[in-house]
Amino acid sequence: MAKERTSVDKNRPYLTKRNGTYEIKVRTCGGMLDTFQLDTLKDIATDWGCGEVHLTHRQEVLLPEIKEQYIEDALEKLGKVGLKGGSAGLRVRNIVACTGGRYKNCVHDTIEIARELDKKYGEMPLPGAVKINISGCAFPCTRPQFDDIGIIGKAKPKVDLEKCDGCGKCAEMCLMKAITINEYKKAEINSGKCKKCGRCIQNCPISAISAEEKGFTILVGGRGSWPAFTGEILDDMVKTEDLVPLIGKIIDYYKKHALPEEKRLRPFLKRIGIEKLKEELLT
Ligand code: SF4
Ligand code: SF4
Repeated sequence: MAKERTSVDKNRPYLTKRNGTYEIKVRTCGGMLDTFQLDTLKDIATDWGCGEVHLTHRQEVLLPEIKEQYIEDALEKLGKVGLKGGSAGLRVRNIVACTGGRYKNCVHDTIEIARELDKKYGEMPLPGAVKINISGCAFPCTRPQFDDIGIIGKAKPKVDLEKCDGCGKCAEMCLMKAITINEYKKAEINSGKCKKCGRCIQNCPISAISAEEKGFTILVGGRGSWPAFTGEILDDMVKTEDLVPLIGKIIDYYKKHALPEEKRLRPFLKRIGIEKLKEELLT
């Protein structure tokens, strides 16, 4: 098999040349695309590419084998439906999010958070690549624990004892076995076992459990490489209104203090230490 010849456009790193044709990496925000955008991607792939698209694990869309003479046309056509090449090189990469409020068990609107973060920090040039993953509940499907900045939604449940009829549905749903039905036929939550995932809140048929407190766990310095590294907890139960400013602080601090060789948050954090980072950003 002939060796593949690959080169990346220095000024537009979302364009990769492979064996004479180009692959365009298209960014999305939280993996959301409307039907006009999907139509446009289909048209570009059909008319100027190989008739296929590839979906990356970071919710980008790759348009492979685009002929050189159609690159500018393809980028212009993408721009007309609000899409752009991006999420490549040393910058804030595509922000990944779960479907958030659209999923029954989710306790936060992750797509809205992704949009807000993207508006402020999307594609910001940095000393390295910063990948942000958001998960709306404590069963993190977007794997926020393995990227530079991980955001995990939490909700602390509280039972309304007047309302609770002891049906036991919440205890069935709790994967942590943190709920028992007591002798008075009321749900009792063991706070030591509870991971604040919010499943019981979403699944009580008579809304007898509510969120006493909502927030986010923030992880930093995770990496999905081999071996993978789990991010370290920077803060817990961060309020929704404080979330975007805190992510901004992390990005700014990394931008100001990273050494040229610290191309990801992991080596930066290894040098700085989580306690120092907490001291700098949280006090
Ligand atoms: S699901 Fe609701 S009503 Fe049923 S035991 Fe749990 S809290 Fe009570
Ligand atoms: S919030 Fe706590 S008690 Fe409720 S399902 Fe999740 S782990 Fe169980």
